[in-house]
Formats: sequence, C-alpha cells, structure tokens
Amino acid sequence: MSNKPYSFFESVEQSFDKAAQYTKWDKGLLAQIKACNSIYNMRFPVKMDDGTIEVIEAYRVQHSQHRTPCKGGIRFSDEVNQDEVMALASLMTYKCAIVNVPFGGAKGGIKINPRKRSTYELEKITRRYTAELVKKNFIGPGIDVPAPDYGTGEREMAWIVDTYQSLKPGEIDALGCVTGKPISQGGVNGRKEATGLGVFFGVREVCKMPELMDKLGLSTGVEGKRIIVQGLGNVGYHCAKFFRENGAIVIAIAEFEGAVYNETGINEEELFQYRKANGSLHGFEGGEIIASGAALELDCDILIPAALENVIDKHNAPNIKAKIIGEAANGPLTPEADEILIAKGVLVIPDMYLNAGGVTVSYFEWLKNLSHVRYGRLEKRFTENMNHHILTEMEQLTGKQATPKAKKLIEHGADEIDLVHSGLEETMISATNEIIDIWKSDASIPDMRTAAYICAINKVAKSYTELGIFP
Ligand code: GLU
Repeated sequence: MSNKPYSFFESVEQSFDKAAQYTKWDKGLLAQIKACNSIYNMRFPVKMDDGTIEVIEAYRVQHSQHRTPCKGGIRFSDEVNQDEVMALASLMTYKCAIVNVPFGGAKGGIKINPRKRSTYELEKITRRYTAELVKKNFIGPGIDVPAPDYGTGEREMAWIVDTYQSLKPGEIDALGCVTGKPISQGGVNGRKEATGLGVFFGVREVCKMPELMDKLGLSTGVEGKRIIVQGLGNVGYHCAKFFRENGAIVIAIAEFEGAVYNETGINEEELFQYRKANGSLHGFEGGEIIASGAALELDCDILIPAALENVIDKHNAPNIKAKIIGEAANGPLTPEADEILIAKGVLVIPDMYLNAGGVTVSYFEWLKNLSHVRYGRLEKRFTENMNHHILTEMEQLTGKQATPKAKKLIEHGADEIDLVHSGLEETMISATNEIIDIWKSDASIPDMRTAAYICAINKVAKSYTELGIFP
C-alpha cells in the first residue's frame, strides 16, 4: 500500500478496480464506466449582505449518462472541491444501478459554509447556481435532476424549482427538475426520512442473516443492539429515530462540537431540539458529553457514520470496536481504514447501497412529478370500499365480528406515504439480498463493498453492451 493518501475519487476508483477483477468485462468498457463524463466547474459573483462581492466556487459533475436523467444531490460545504464532487457523482451511478433506479450518476457542490451565511445570501447563491446550470443545459427533468445533500434541504430545492420554472415557462414537467422539494412544491411524502429509513431497512435485513451474525458473535435482529450514530443532520437524525423506535439502543450520538453518551439510550428528538435551541449539544442533560472522535471508538454493536467522508482513516480504524459499520454517509471510510476493518473482521455495509434510500424515493418523487398525480389518489377509496365489502361478507359468513383495530387495518387503502415506504422497504430488501447472493457465490470476494461494486458494474456494463457499442 502506498503512503500517499488517496483522494476521494481515487479511493472510489480503487474500490471499483478491486471489484472489476471479479468481472469479465472488456477493459475499455470498464474504463468508460469509471470515467466522469461531464464536469462543469463554475465561478460566479454574488453581492453579499454587507455589500462586498464574492466569487463563488461551484460544481456539477455528471458521471454517467448510460441512463438519463443524471441524478444526485447538491452539497453546501467549505470542503467542496472537484475531486470530491467527482467521487460522489461516481457513487451515485453505482448506487442507482444497485437499487434499479434508472438514472445516471451526478453530484453538485457549492463551496460555502451555510451556517455562516444569511438566508438571503443562501437564496441568492442557490438561484444563481441554478441559472448557471440552466444556461449550460446541466439541469432538467430529462437531463440532470439535483436533490438535497450535506448542508441542503427542502428550502434550497424549492428555490431551485422556482428558478428553473421562471427560466423555462410552460415546461409541463418542470417540477421534475429537482427532487427533495417541500410537498407544496411537488415533493413526495416520505422523501425527508428516506435515507435514514433505507439505512435502517438495509441494516435490519443484514441483521436477519444468521450466518453473518454468528460470525460476528451477535444474535439476529436489531432489537437490543447498541448503536452509535455520527451526525445529527437529516440522515443521522432519522437513522437514530428508526433504530430507537425498533428496539435498538442508541448509546451515543456525535456531532462536530462533541458527542453525547448514555448506555441506557439517547432520545434523538430531545437532543435535536436542545441543539437547535442552544446551538450546540454541550449542556444536554440526557447523557455524558464526550469528545466527538472518542464516540466513534466506544464499544458498540453497530456504528453508523452519517455525516461526511473520510471520518474513519488508518489512524482511528484500529481503535474502532463496532462489529458492524453501516455507511449512511458517502465514503466515511478511507481505503486504508477499510482494509484494517476487514482484517479485524468488522462487517462494513457499504455506502453506495446502504444510503440509496434517498435516491430511491427521489425516483418516486420524479415519477409523481411526471405523472402529475399524487400516489394513491386513484385507488385509495376503491381499495377501502372493496376491503369493506370483503370484510362484511366474511363477518356474515362466519357470524363473527372483526375487532375495531383489525377492521381499521384491513379496510385501510394505501396513502402516498404507505406506498413510498413499502416501495423503499422492498427496494432495500431486494438490494441487500442481491449483494449478499453475489458475495456468497464466490468465496474469494473479500467483503460486502466489493460484492456491491460487482453488482453495480454488471448492471451498468450490461446497459452499455445492450447499446451495441461494447463487446
Ligand atoms: N444526496 C443523496 C445521495 O447522496 C440523494 C440523491 C438524490 O436523491 O438524488 O444519495
């Protein structure tokens, strides 16, 4: 192993090459899959609240157009650079392939710290960025569809769709130019919690597998498992919530200013509200306050890094005591850390499939926008009427009455949220089993990440060969 640290994009390429050895695809085809097709590196001026003009550095990278539109979030962070956006765009291609979402991968980034900007400045920057994308044909429901990522959310997506619509008057599918929008602006119910819920479904599925749990010395099921979550943003918050609600114990939650530790469990909602009101988790009484880095190294069953890349590297990897790492963030482990943890026998559930819940529900939102109708609108009442008839008939035939609780459950017709959650659950369960089957099929495949990459490479390669371009 060389001593030079890998750039984020290089580490994605490294994982790709490691997996490509287990496939039989043509070298040229593999090189095409790996390459970032289009990179838009832009600068634009914005007048700030104090009257100064700042030149903003921003990016949009389209890694692959083997399926269109391209898809991927936009992040706001001081750390944004071209290499990072390229890496994240590549991960989007593989992620979409694994969960059978028919998009190519993309990612955007603006090099700003949103916490240090006023709302008005953020709005100006977001709207100008959108206008730059429109100018270069880098956004549109059939071209490239952004979404939230680190440092962005529904509010920013609302600014994007509004700017897009004003520049493209009359475009009937304009709402599908971005996902992760507020419901009133064309969003879908269930998008906000989608990544965290997808992480939960994926980890739960892995924890159901006795042969994997036996190897780790763990019992099956998530109930009673001790969890550490790093990051209390949208993804971390929802991961903590779904694990807690399903009987796991969230013993630590870490943020950049520190961490809270409590063996009997932390309520993420109380911590979130405290931090929102006080600007920091210091002073929170629901546990002991410890250093952020120390929280990652605590004894636990499952560690969920849910913030940024490279938080576990060769320096702290030897100290990690978790038996399972669920990568809710993109790229939280460096390749060196990955090797150290594999050697220690830790099961790493890889990012580009485990956090695919966000883009899966983005796909549902995009379909909703293109179909111009809310999920469940046509069939909900029909199903309820039909279920009522069936139940009444059964009650008459048996002479017995269903309890009010059972009646409510049986008669219920699916709302948008029911359909979105069940579509997400099905997607995560199928993807988990597909990857595990690949892993099991060849004893020389060393880890789950490699199995996930093999799955992605095979799917993308197949779509290229079916075009007739490659052998
Ligand atoms: N930013 C999220 C991700 O990294 C979601 C992307 C999307 O919904 O398009 O997967």
